[in-house]
Amino acid sequence: EGAPVLEALEPADVEALLPTPSAESNKYRRGVVGIAAGSPRYPGAAVLATGAALRSGVGAVRFVGESEVSDGVLAHYPEVMVGEGRVQAWVVGPGIGPDSADRVEKALTAEVPVLVDADGLAALAHRDKPLDRPHPTLLTPHSGEAARLLGDPWSVEHIEAQRLAAVRELANRFGCTVLLKGSTTLIAAPETTTVRVNRTGTPTLATAGSGDVLSGLTGGLLATGLPPLDAASLAAHLHGEAARDVHRRHPGRQLIAGDLIEAVRASR
Ligand code: AMP
Ligand code: MG
Repeated sequence: EGAPVLEALEPADVEALLPTPSAESNKYRRGVVGIAAGSPRYPGAAVLATGAALRSGVGAVRFVGESEVSDGVLAHYPEVMVGEGRVQAWVVGPGIGPDSADRVEKALTAEVPVLVDADGLAALAHRDKPLDRPHPTLLTPHSGEAARLLGDPWSVEHIEAQRLAAVRELANRFGCTVLLKGSTTLIAAPETTTVRVNRTGTPTLATAGSGDVLSGLTGGLLATGLPPLDAASLAAHLHGEAARDVHRRHPGRQLIAGDLIEAVRASR
């Protein structure tokens, strides 16, 4: 394998990748994303991922989860559809809690791209069979989740010191596209040695729920039809830009994850 080449999205790439509705658009053609998130203990992750998905450029968002969670999601976002149905991509994991392997397995059987985040990654780390999906899978770990996925000798410290090697190892070992979070974000795909890097983020993104927003946004972009590497790179870019936009409009305000949802740019 060749040495990885780091590549950032240029402004022109961002413009070209942003979803653009046209006269032929309808809500189904724009893409529908399914969100399998939240639990009675962590209902907020479902609200944040769903809100970000609604702002991502899709035509519709479908939410599946326990009724007490979906009631809360609907209270925040009446635009969401609740229950099973056709989608072009799934997001599974934010806030689903530690004992959710069956929820993750179910999502992995879908014949569409699947993004696995948060507690969904913990379920993957314990899984004994290879992923072996005929459709794209995208993993979005932070260093701690990456360490659980990789196991010995990949401690959090080792991963933080060797981020490029770690993201390549994850992509190769799982055969997935992988977005490794941190102060810069690295995105690798199994089939290429090019690794995308995003530097738009701000340290204020280190706040509760920030990753749930990124998951919903990325899943939405997957549902619009972007390939996983592009969906992940564009989402990381827009997520960072959203934080900068909040700081520009409200100097000195403490960023909370919900602020990002309102600030996400979804089209040219
Ligand atoms: P999570 O840990 O799942 O909540 O995700 C945190 C999000 O915030 C990811 O998109 C990270 O890349 C981003 N983030 C966390 N810390 C920093 C930092 N120090 N600088 C820039 N972005 C960060
Ligand atoms: Mg997270």
